[in-house]
Amino acid sequence: MSGNQNLFEMSQAQLDEVAGILNLEPSIYAILREPMRELHVSIPVKMDDGQTKVFKGFRVQHNNARGPFKGGIRFHPEETIDVVRALATWMTWKCAVVDIPFGGGKGGVICNPKEMSSGELERLSRGYIDAIWEFIGPDRDIPAPDVYTDPQIMGWMMDEYSKLRGYYIPEVITGKPVAIGGSLGRDDATARGGVYTIIEAAKHLDIDLSTATVAVQGYGNAGSNAAILMRELVGAKIVAISDSKGGIYNKQGLDPHQVLQHKIETGSVTNFSQAENVSNGELLELSVDILCSAGLETVLTEKNAPRVRAKIVAELANGPTTPEADKVLYHNGVFVIPDFLCNAGGVTVSYFEWVQCLNRYYWDEEEVHQRLEQKMTKAFQTVLAESLKRKVSMRLAAHIIAVTRVTEAMKLRGWV
Ligand code: GLU
Repeated sequence: MSGNQNLFEMSQAQLDEVAGILNLEPSIYAILREPMRELHVSIPVKMDDGQTKVFKGFRVQHNNARGPFKGGIRFHPEETIDVVRALATWMTWKCAVVDIPFGGGKGGVICNPKEMSSGELERLSRGYIDAIWEFIGPDRDIPAPDVYTDPQIMGWMMDEYSKLRGYYIPEVITGKPVAIGGSLGRDDATARGGVYTIIEAAKHLDIDLSTATVAVQGYGNAGSNAAILMRELVGAKIVAISDSKGGIYNKQGLDPHQVLQHKIETGSVTNFSQAENVSNGELLELSVDILCSAGLETVLTEKNAPRVRAKIVAELANGPTTPEADKVLYHNGVFVIPDFLCNAGGVTVSYFEWVQCLNRYYWDEEEVHQRLEQKMTKAFQTVLAESLKRKVSMRLAAHIIAVTRVTEAMKLRGWV
């Protein structure tokens, strides 16, 4: 999944750079470089054939100086503890950069959900909560969906936690179905938040989005909603889309809804009748205005980065760009909206969901959208100002802001 790149080392290298710039005290640096706590669990699951299979799972809690740990759970066959560590670290920065009162955490289970029945998935989801429930909670650690987990899985997990505690506790997990305490607007929040940052970036770069072309790499929740919203909110033309099996291209534009329907019916976006097939590699190098990387990590490397022709790279995925690629893109003047800013809309609406659950008072969709737009726009402008002031990339600027905020909280709490 992460190729040769160790994602956790990559996140530590990013912190090293920031620590140098901010002159971080060694004790602060030592706390931030490692997760505060991590759980490794074994989850026995009765499979449909009657056999019991034991799955390995993790929950990593990176930092909770600013509030309870927060972050998604991934179900992936190639999940590793280092990937989860890196993602937990990025959650700390993500929550800090959009200024919501959470720290960072992440969970993962090594499994292939594409090969599991719904019953098996439910038993695995409940088993995972049985294994970690004492370490999570509405004021401790609040999980959410991520790669290959969805609202139904969150619903099962919330139910399992509530049963263990003896009463209904919807605020323990976010990204749930709306009927059981989910928030309106959570479904497309990651993409919508990303689109708000693209709108701000385009203003800054003087790009007219109504005539802009877009390529979307990855067509899960974030990618498909980003394609739909880029077309419907700003009138951009989606010319290329890919998923793990390959990509499609039509310079006249693609209808993202039709492509999604095709993916649901055939299992992939490829072989769509109104487009030619392209490889994932080709898609990344197309001459488009905006490239949304919404798949898995480390797809932009030092090999392909020199050939990226997009003006804006919007990182809807976590960790799609290696540090080497990042330098190339910056050097070539590609404007990168870094992952933990670009995709922070998901956790921001998770925060709104948590607030609504705690209050047992639910907002209408319009209110969610408005508050999300406010949060994303403010975060983007703060990062942009920092990047212009210091003449550094948006990623480094975002790291500087996030690390500064977390450090301040740690100092005020008297940790260092
Ligand atoms: N998994 C999403 C992320 O990486 C959302 C996390 C959340 O809502 O807690 O940001």
